Amino acid sequence: MTLTDDDRRQLHERYASERDKRIRADGNEQYIEVTGLYSDYADDPYVAVEPRESLHDEVEFAFVGGGFAGLLTGAKLKQAGVDDVRIIEKGGDFGGTWYWNRYPGAQCDTAAFIYLPLLEETGHMPSEKYTHAPEIAEHCRRIGRHFDLYDNALFSTEVTGLEWDDDASRWIIRTNRGDEMRARHVAIGTGPLHRPKLPGIPGIDTFAGHSFHTSRWDYDYTGGDPSGAPLTGLADKRVGIIGTGATAVQCVPHLARSAGELFVFQRTPSSIDARNNHDIDPEWFATLEPGWQKRWMENFTILQTGGFADEDLVMDGWTDISQRIRDRLLSAPEPDLSPEGFLKAYHDSDDEKMEEIRRRVEAIVADPDTVDALKPWYRQLCKRPCFHDDYLQAFNEAGTTLVHTDGQGVERITERGVVVDGVEYELDCLIYASGFEVGTEFTRRWGFDVTGRDGVLLSDHWVDGMTSLHGIHTRGFPNMYIVSPSQGANLISNVPHNLTEAGATIATVVAHARSVAATEVEVTEDAERQWVELLEAGGRTFGGDPTCTPGYYNNEGHGIADSARRNSLGYPEGPVAYFDHIERWRSSGEFAGL
Ligand code: NDP
Repeated sequence: MTLTDDDRRQLHERYASERDKRIRADGNEQYIEVTGLYSDYADDPYVAVEPRESLHDEVEFAFVGGGFAGLLTGAKLKQAGVDDVRIIEKGGDFGGTWYWNRYPGAQCDTAAFIYLPLLEETGHMPSEKYTHAPEIAEHCRRIGRHFDLYDNALFSTEVTGLEWDDDASRWIIRTNRGDEMRARHVAIGTGPLHRPKLPGIPGIDTFAGHSFHTSRWDYDYTGGDPSGAPLTGLADKRVGIIGTGATAVQCVPHLARSAGELFVFQRTPSSIDARNNHDIDPEWFATLEPGWQKRWMENFTILQTGGFADEDLVMDGWTDISQRIRDRLLSAPEPDLSPEGFLKAYHDSDDEKMEEIRRRVEAIVADPDTVDALKPWYRQLCKRPCFHDDYLQAFNEAGTTLVHTDGQGVERITERGVVVDGVEYELDCLIYASGFEVGTEFTRRWGFDVTGRDGVLLSDHWVDGMTSLHGIHTRGFPNMYIVSPSQGANLISNVPHNLTEAGATIATVVAHARSVAATEVEVTEDAERQWVELLEAGGRTFGGDPTCTPGYYNNEGHGIADSARRNSLGYPEGPVAYFDHIERWRSSGEFAGL
């Protein structure tokens, strides 16, 4: 598809006007926190919490969070011979994101071969290229069983505070179950998107029908189950869903099939490219050579970040985005490999891709007004790209209505339903696919602060933004490790790759400390400062582009404060270089900077 300069100019004008339409003065403040009146929206609907005695014991290593971060770090510690590991988890089992998100249709958006951790170690073959949530949750439990992480785990337990005891060189961990445990080492991996948020729509507290957030799906009400069985409880119901992000894209087809009537309230359409999921052939799987998962992850990361590899092992929408940019750059008679040249190649290929995505809407959806409303007008990476083969088709189902709010969002919620443009849509059930907190204070998302050496709070140490070595170690907080993509590789397209490397690094450090009988592991002031300076000089951050349509990628279009920018910095030379660096650092045995 070829676009003229004039086409591109008009396109960019449209992008700018669509963005301007959506900018709100209240930015990230528009959302409601799930506390007080709204705290029920964050309750765990999946388990009945059993009473238990408070614990006052000691472990060698405690991990806050039982999702991929905790499971990977726990597994790597066990492999390194550190057995006394306790994972403390708010949910009733392991899984993190995949414990909470059980909405119908949930599946991974990054190919399972590189997304599901520890496949070779556990001997699991993903059944599909993009596996569904029940299989992923089961895989989390498999990791827990395989590495004996259940033995010492605490579920339905929320950490309320971590405090360093300098005299004993131990962490004191307090929880909402009255525990006061001690640990020589602690790590925190609570996930970047785990606290549900609600849209701040006037009247939201007045709705008299049934409502829930997608990350706490109420199967008792809807019928059906996470594997996609029909939602029989909705057959005679008028159902509304607010939000059309990656979550809604996956559950709307199920709602459309089952609900008596479905109203999808849309503020900004997602970009929906083809999914092309398929089953995995066990005979082919058996041909993979040992070490394949690391190779696949590295191959994906190289291609997804614009590098070169002989073949594309994963071949999906993510690698396609970068390969298009790269091919365009290199096919020019005189390739311009400067940052400006790269940016131009990115914009040019993106214009064409988004034109294809809009044509895809035309090809699939029947009603012309709905076609217009479902077309996204922004660059593909301004929002989370979505891939689905049934979402757009759902709008052809009788009984499914797209309620387009032209970027303004829902006007009001009443006792009876939802109002848009003065029209009230009466509903029995209202589902909030309104996403998760991003960019709020970390203490609010974690649910606790950390008191380090000399009583210094982590929230004070990080008052101007995160500071760390490798995104893992923080000065003044000995024997504490952070597990997240930030200030490390910052690879967003395959988060578990970041966590795998962090887990391996922490396990190596802890095993080494133990082997030399070191009681404290702490980054030096110089090493922490130099790392942050290196990252700041490089300026590689995730999202934050104010020219993009508003969303959590860019602080709702309001630009990102310096402190928040610091939190999302990544290694200047990119994820591949970071993974090389961290592997060399931990293998050298020198642990420079600690
Ligand atoms: P998002 O934050 O992406 O989407 C929230 C939705 O709510 C948006 O469509 C937003 O509109 C809409 N919204 C908010 N306020 C209003 C309002 N007042 N009126 C109408 N609509 C409103 O949340 P998701 O849960 O969809 O996804 C969050 C992230 O989780 C994804 O970006 C992805 O990273 C991850 N995810 C990954 C999946 C996977 O890998 N398989 C699956 C699902 C989620 P607007 O766009 O205009 O702000």
